[in-house]
Formats: sequence, structure tokens, C-alpha cells
Amino acid sequence: MPLSTIVVGGGIGGLSLAHELSIVGLPVVVLERAPKLATVGAGIIMNPNAMGVLEANGLAASVRSRSAPYLARETLDHRGRPLARRDYRPLYADGRLAVGALLHRAHLQECLHDGLLPGVIHLDARIVALDAGPDGVRVETEGGETFTGDVLVGADGIRSSVRARFFGAGEPEYLGYRSHRFVVPNRDGLEHFTEFLGHGRRVGLVPIGGGQLYVWTTFNSPRESRAWALESAEALPAAFDEFSDSRVRRAFGALASTDGVVCTDIEEVQRTSWARGRVALLGDAAHALTPNMGQGAGMAMEDAAVLAGELMRADRGDKDVPAALAAYVARRQQRVDTIARLSRQIGEEGQLTGVLACWLRNRRILRAARATERVQASLEGLLAWPPRDEARR
Ligand SMILES: Cc1cc2nc3c(=O)[nH]c(=O)nc-3n(C[C@H](O)[C@H](O)[C@H](O)COP(=O)(O)OP(=O)(O)OC[C@H]3O[C@@H](n4cnc5c(N)ncnc54)[C@H](O)[C@@H]3O)c2cc1C
Repeated sequence: MPLSTIVVGGGIGGLSLAHELSIVGLPVVVLERAPKLATVGAGIIMNPNAMGVLEANGLAASVRSRSAPYLARETLDHRGRPLARRDYRPLYADGRLAVGALLHRAHLQECLHDGLLPGVIHLDARIVALDAGPDGVRVETEGGETFTGDVLVGADGIRSSVRARFFGAGEPEYLGYRSHRFVVPNRDGLEHFTEFLGHGRRVGLVPIGGGQLYVWTTFNSPRESRAWALESAEALPAAFDEFSDSRVRRAFGALASTDGVVCTDIEEVQRTSWARGRVALLGDAAHALTPNMGQGAGMAMEDAAVLAGELMRADRGDKDVPAALAAYVARRQQRVDTIARLSRQIGEEGQLTGVLACWLRNRRILRAARATERVQASLEGLLAWPPRDEARR
């Protein structure tokens, strides 16, 4: 019997794993508690490494069909004065890196879902029991269904039940800022990811193709102050009125109501252990990271590709399931830790508040941007897929 996997959670990570396992012919079911797959949400950045995973698993073309290429990232201050420009195009020359893509989340979700055979995803699956023993795993749902398999994967997001059940409790850490995201028409015809750094707040404008502009924001706020920015269509723009660039003003001006605005607390999950016996965690369940590098979903996709490879080896009999899951963690942990740490640092710099601190930060960014070759080399190291050392495996 081929090795079978039960995945809890049908987000980007869970669907990616299901896709990776399906293409190597291993049976998989995905249990998703939502009654339908999310079609809401704003934009998403698929960095070159994420697109590298999608190139390898055959989904890149459908993802690119409704997206904008990620060619450059411009960083400006709150008045729109340029600080840095990172040109990704030299990194794409000769196929060194896969071309990054900027798109709507719903489209990404659709592409991941459409590649799966009917019967793989079980929606509205409310889990009432999770068990794992030396010989197999077992999941029961409220509807009375029982699923058995060889491996259980928790891809159930930042507040993972699988994590709580098998790896112990532990709340995500709130980092002191939250994000509001929405999509409006790209009236200024922006072609590049353009971010503005203010004082304790940032705005990013991301063209995602189809004449749409994804707007993401961050601002410092105590945890308990969640709702106020969404109380009216005026409250949110007012929180960002230090940004005087006309493109930012127009993006906020296009927001007729706050109905479609997604508000997320920025939190992290850091754990030393993501696998035990026949159970593993993947994506945000294992290592939710800050969004400052646009890499959380990318990390979940990389996890999925590596985990599927290890499960294929277990299926061939090269190793047993616990050894395969341990190898997955060993291959992923350092990479994820590096990205999470860099992402956290970018957030800390980006959320500075004092006038002097922000001025010094902007000077640092201006200075660092002049070392073009060093910037390009470090980007290439971070954004390669497979990572240079993994490519030899
Ligand atoms: C502001 C912001 C911007 C971001 N921008 C980017 C970006 O540009 N690029 C990028 O790569 N990443 C980005 N990320 C990160 C990215 O969104 C996440 O890392 C990614 O969605 C994680 O996917 P996941 O599948 O692990 O978890 P999730 O997307 O959270 O999916 C978990 C799924 O599990 C389901 N579920 C939960 N509990 C249960 C249960 N008990 N039973 C069954 N199902 C369950 C949920 O309904 C959900 O469908 C951003 C994050 C934030 C907060």
C-alpha cells in the first residue's frame, strides 16, 4: 500500500502539500474546516523562490496567467522621496531565479485547488479527534467520518489544533503592529512594488495585474485596540495621513468602504520542534513569520516540496516515517529561521517611530542601496529555489 497522508488545513500550505503528493502519486486527503475555500483576501507576493517551487510542480503558468511580474521594488520615505530601488531583472537573467509574481490571493488559491483530483479536499470538516500511534494516524470529524493514514500533517495555520494536540500549547507572539490590506483600481498605472516608510507605519502599493492595485499597510498599535481603524472608510486613511505622496492618497481615496479590508495582527510562531513520530507541522502552524519579506506562503510551499520528497523516500522504503519527518525538519529549519529573523528585523526597522530614529533608518537604507552588487548577491542567495545547497541533493 502506498504511504497515505492526512493534511489538516486547506490553506496555501495544505493545498501545496496535497499537490506535491498528488504529482508523485501518493494518496492524500485535506480536511478543511471552512465550508468553502477562501476567495477573499487581498494580494500576495510570490517571491522568486515561491515561483521556483511552482515552476517545479507545474503550477507556475496558471499562477502567472493572472499576475504582474515582480521586476523591481522601490522604497520611498513618507513624502515619496526615493530611498532605494532593488532591480530584480538581473537576477532573472539566464534563468538564475524564477521571475517573481504579484497577484490576488484568490487566484493563487484557485490554482492550487484546481490541480487536485476530486475527493482530495473535504470541506466543512470539523475535527473532533486526532490520534497518532506507532502504526498509523487517525482523524475523526463531527460529521462522523473517520480518516486513517500513515502520516498526519498540521497545515492548520497560526493557531494550529494539531500543534496544540501533539506539540503542546503556546500562543503566537504579537509583535506590536497590525496590517490592513485591500485591493483598489491601479489608477496611477504603477508597475513596481512601491513601499513608503513612515513613523511607526508603512504603506505598500503592489500592482497585481488586471488593472488592480494591492495596498498593504502596517501600523503600531496595542493589541487591544483592534477595531477602530475599520470603524469608517475615513478612519483608515486618517491613520496614514503622514503619507503625502499622491499615489498613496489616491489608493486610500479609492476605498469606498472598509468591507473588503483584511485586518491581521502581526504575530510569530517560533518552535524548535515541528515533527514527532508520524506527525509534522507545515507553514504557519510550524513557523508563522512576519510578512515583511512576503515569504510566509513561500516558506509553506517550500516546506511542502521538501516534505513530499521525504515522504516519497519513506514510501520507497529508504527510511521509516519518523525518520522522513525528522529529515524534513532538518532540511527546513535553518532556512526558515534565517528568513524569519531577517523578516522580523525589517519589521523592527520599518515600525520605528521617533523622528531621529526614522531619519537614521532612511539614511541606512540609502547607503545600503548604493552597494548594488552586495545587495544583488544576498538577494540571489535568499531567493533561489532549490537553495544552492539543496540543489545537490
Ligand atoms: C499582512 C500579511 C501579508 C502577507 N503577505 C504575504 C506575501 O505577500 N507573500 C507570502 O509568501 N506570504 C505572505 N504572508 C504570509 C502568508 O499569508 C502565510 O504564511 C500563509 O498564508 C500560510 O499558509 P498556511 O497554509 O500555513 O496557513 P493558513 O493560510 O492560515 O491556512 C490554514 C488553513 O487551515 C484551516 N484550519 C485551521 N484550523 C483548522 C482545523 N482545526 N481543522 C481544519 N482546518 C483548519 C484554515 O481554515 C485555513 O484554511 C502574509 C501574511 C500577512 C499576515
